[in-house]
Amino acid sequence: MDFNTKQAKETVAHIATLIGDLMVAHLQQEDSPSLGDIEQGMRHLLQTIGREAVGHVLEKSDTVQPSIRCSCHHKATYRCRREGMVITVFGRVKYKRSYYLCDHCRGGQKPLDTQFQIDPGEMSQGLKPLVALLGIQTSLDEAAKLTQTLLLVDISDNSIRQAVQWVGQRQVERESKWEKLSDWHHYMNSPTRQADRPPRRLYGSIDGIMVPTQAEWRELKTVCWYEVTPVPERQWPSRYTERLGKLEGLKATAIQYHCDIQEAKTFSTLLWSTGCHYLADRAQELIFVCDGARWIWRLVEENFPQAIQILDWYHAVEYLTPVAQTFFHNEDKQKEWLATMKEHLWFSRTQTVMDACLALAKPASVADPAAKAATYFQNNLARMDYAYFRQQGYLIGSGAVESGCKQIGTMRLKRSGARWLEEGARWVAKARAVWLSGQWQEVVQSKSDLPFAV
Ligand SMILES: [Zn+2]
Repeated sequence: MDFNTKQAKETVAHIATLIGDLMVAHLQQEDSPSLGDIEQGMRHLLQTIGREAVGHVLEKSDTVQPSIRCSCHHKATYRCRREGMVITVFGRVKYKRSYYLCDHCRGGQKPLDTQFQIDPGEMSQGLKPLVALLGIQTSLDEAAKLTQTLLLVDISDNSIRQAVQWVGQRQVERESKWEKLSDWHHYMNSPTRQADRPPRRLYGSIDGIMVPTQAEWRELKTVCWYEVTPVPERQWPSRYTERLGKLEGLKATAIQYHCDIQEAKTFSTLLWSTGCHYLADRAQELIFVCDGARWIWRLVEENFPQAIQILDWYHAVEYLTPVAQTFFHNEDKQKEWLATMKEHLWFSRTQTVMDACLALAKPASVADPAAKAATYFQNNLARMDYAYFRQQGYLIGSGAVESGCKQIGTMRLKRSGARWLEEGARWVAKARAVWLSGQWQEVVQSKSDLPFAV
């Protein structure tokens, strides 16, 4: 909507003067109001005006006809104008619209509600995304309080839950559409898709995190697709030089998260279909950086056998710390040993590290951290050629997906005392993934295939 025409500008100026005068008159009755008082008063006033104006616009948009066509294709006859209510960003708006009754199926029709996707008594399309945004940041009752404070709108915890579910469901619709397409041979090979330029280098990372549902702890699995760009040296945070030498001046960009609470076998579909959406199957180079979990590498191999596999650098290094702590009691010795081992890993001398671990390991003790580390490195040997990976300019840390898992799972779903119904946890996780991927506007504004009611 554009308010730049001369007439609109004049109207706005006129209204502003009127409201300003109204406020002045009101405030003169009070003792020395602060700017905060003025702002707060103005917000309430504008809420009232907005509410009235929305009602006015809705009623003006309603046209009365003798009859309309019912969804059952028979004739529905005009009966009366009925009052409705919708909760908007300006609060509860009451409005009247024409009501038709079908002679055939006896179903009632309110074309205005259909036109504006109004679910009478529920939140509007403008309010729902804002409320959902609060609902994915904090608990439902906290979000209801925030809605009151920030938007001056009273709604229940349950409305917040519905709003979150609404966004989560839209993400599911979007992902199911991609799933259908990725399974459709004709689409996958269509000239339009082939004409899309695939990314030169696309990265994928997969991770899982346990979340508490009412029945049991379930694994929330996340796949994250991203590209990598160099960070100019002057912008490097100090930790680069501390932790990795001056070599990892890279950062993940265009990060897209997709997640679900499901078994690896089912999650495989989400991995493949989202990958196809980002043209992973056609990328010149596809690189997976993940931790050592078996199910993860199995899914990568099944879906994208051409991908370069890299064991996340930080996970590899993590295995060394308990070894140092168990076998060296002097802190300086621990540090020294760790530094030496890290350097070996950095230059792909993995065998040297494995030998060093095995030399420390007590025979026949599986619980021994040194034996554990050696086995872990052995299982991931081909994924640990860090010297080569660095030379190719690959990012060797899966920080992007791990930070996503933490932000999707830990921060919201693992809040203290949280016990989720599995569906509830799923909607929150999906909606959070949308937000963290920067897709919020696109998802909440997209036309839904489903009926609009939650
Ligand atoms: Zn009908």
